[in-house]
Amino acid sequence: MAKLTVEDLELKGKKVLMRVDFNVPLKEENGEVEVSNDNRIVAALPTIKYVLEQGGRAILFSHLGRIKSEDDKAGLSMKPVAQRLADLLGQPVTFVPAIEGPELEEAIAGLEDGQVLIFENTRFADVVNGEEVKRESKNDPALGAYWASLGDVFVNDAFGTAHRAHASNAGIAANISQTAAGFLMEKEIKFLGGAVEAPERPFVAIIGGAKVSDKITIIENLLKKADKVIVGGGMAYTFDVANGQSIGNSLFEADKVELAKQLIEEAGDKLVLPVDALAADKFANDADTYVAEDGIKDGYMGLDIGPKSIELFKSILADAKTVVWNGPMGVFEMENFAKGTLAIGEELVKVTEENGATTIVGGGDSTAAVQQLGVADRLSHISTGGGASLEYLEGKTLPGIAAISEK
Ligand code: AMP
Repeated sequence: MAKLTVEDLELKGKKVLMRVDFNVPLKEENGEVEVSNDNRIVAALPTIKYVLEQGGRAILFSHLGRIKSEDDKAGLSMKPVAQRLADLLGQPVTFVPAIEGPELEEAIAGLEDGQVLIFENTRFADVVNGEEVKRESKNDPALGAYWASLGDVFVNDAFGTAHRAHASNAGIAANISQTAAGFLMEKEIKFLGGAVEAPERPFVAIIGGAKVSDKITIIENLLKKADKVIVGGGMAYTFDVANGQSIGNSLFEADKVELAKQLIEEAGDKLVLPVDALAADKFANDADTYVAEDGIKDGYMGLDIGPKSIELFKSILADAKTVVWNGPMGVFEMENFAKGTLAIGEELVKVTEENGATTIVGGGDSTAAVQQLGVADRLSHISTGGGASLEYLEGKTLPGIAAISEK
């Protein structure tokens, strides 16, 4: 990768602006707001610790939730996040309850090497005097320039917002000499970017989930890049209709049938569809089910791929060297319809461990699925960004990544 990373920067004595993803869930207990899940803070620690160890002065910031009115601000302060960060780092963290102004500037001026400060929720800039002006979310140039003026270099470690040009990513980058990827961002670029740009072959993509309309651009892009594109989950039934099959009451998007037809024609045997389905008489775990091979009968709906599809998909994945997976094969939230998704997860573990394949899970529901299966740490990479990973796989340029300096 040709992007600058935090390890390329001279950090000693520098004021290091760090865009992190501390958009964490909060809960209220005994009148106090606390962080209820600190996974994202823990994930950011390696980059923060590296900057501190190198003698940098870390100035951290992140968005937290959505700010649409002055009232939203009260419950979405970074203060509890600063507290949890201090606990995890084992050192004091100065919290500045402002996003601009003398209090923030003085606190930064007083930072010493190896010290860390976090300022208030960047989205507080979205509402000024009760008016929703979106200075952060619409990348107000003056705000990006101001934040950039507070530091010497910029480290962006927030992949989850990389698909949006905000003042706290692209805005700062446009006004500072060097912008580098933090370790989390670097890993996302290496795996997702690597798969899309220079995959080791065979490269197999497996796309599932509910709706064709959500994933159509990904399928189109991956058909250009991958050796095989497997389509499963609810969205496969629209392709089945395009192939003239009966699908009973399965999920289906009438306005996407033509497009599905076109893709089937263009892609030929590169596009692989399920050959059977586990059909149910209702959308419930205790439904009456049967394995449907030649279409699905009236009164039934396909809620998972069937056993022959599992074998077919596994045989295609078996010799893959790169796999990108996005979207479950069925309604995996219900135990009786999780088999297809489970089997794919297990096969990915196998090809990772036995063939040394690079296996990437592209965010959202498939991330939840691999976590549910307990195999997340046995795959090469689980992307943290839902929208950002989808847009990356769609082949779009992500403004937050484009703004990182070239080496
Ligand atoms: P997505 O967010 O597009 O990845 O879709 C994930 C959702 O698709 C999950 O909640 C699954 O339960 C759902 N899903 C997958 N397969 C089916 C299916 N055959 N019928 C209905 N929903 C499905």
